[in-house]
Amino acid sequence: MPTIPFFKHATLREIIITRLCCAADAVVILCCAVYLAGYYHAAGLRWPWLIVSLLVGYFLADLFSGLVHWVVDTWLDEEMLGRGIAITREHHSHPSHVLLYEFLDQASLGAAPSAVVFGTAAAVTALVPVSALSYALMIVWLVTATCMLFGMSFHNLAHWSVRPPPLRLAQRLHLVCSPVHHWRHHQDHTVRYCVINGWANYPCDRIRLWSRLERLVTATTGRAPRADDAEWQRKLNDASLVEELGPIG
Ligand SMILES: [Zn+2]
Ligand SMILES: [Zn+2]
Repeated sequence: MPTIPFFKHATLREIIITRLCCAADAVVILCCAVYLAGYYHAAGLRWPWLIVSLLVGYFLADLFSGLVHWVVDTWLDEEMLGRGIAITREHHSHPSHVLLYEFLDQASLGAAPSAVVFGTAAAVTALVPVSALSYALMIVWLVTATCMLFGMSFHNLAHWSVRPPPLRLAQRLHLVCSPVHHWRHHQDHTVRYCVINGWANYPCDRIRLWSRLERLVTATTGRAPRADDAEWQRKLNDASLVEELGPIG
């Protein structure tokens, strides 16, 4: 019998929300692209800085994916954000299930915060006079917003059981997150949160950024990180989960 992911069913409300989140991030991407196409000559950004901007954007996207992942894993539960959180929690206990969801089911988790943060950043950048700096910043927002829309897709590449040679090469070169690099997160849910290319995992884990932030949040709010995670993993490992919980959202 083929494996069926636990939260495949979505209500109409959940479908509309996921599409709106993705559409909002797509609008940000489109606005950035229009700005970059319109002001290319006026800004006069030299190509070495263009490449630097692309790399900064790619690093920042990875860092932001880690921040979103950390918040989702550590502080949120399905009572707060419904099916999206349930799918990510399912991923820890049943990693291969993530490949059985639709793109839009997963993209909204990264697209929603991206639309807010990078949409605001792009709007502010568009309001200042056009310069090489504003143009470079807009490249950064374009890359980050695009990578966040496809954040789970980047992550899912690390779970493909059959990987074509170009993907293997890209993962070996750390251009995208590799299975070996990402698997550490599945062994220890408190490290390797960044899933686009994994570049930001090195500084973040070296300075123990996430555990320090957890202590800060606990000290200011009194909340415990991953408070009911063990209970959830126990439920997810129960084969009768779907009957037991019913639709979540
Ligand atoms: Zn995780
Ligand atoms: Zn994973």
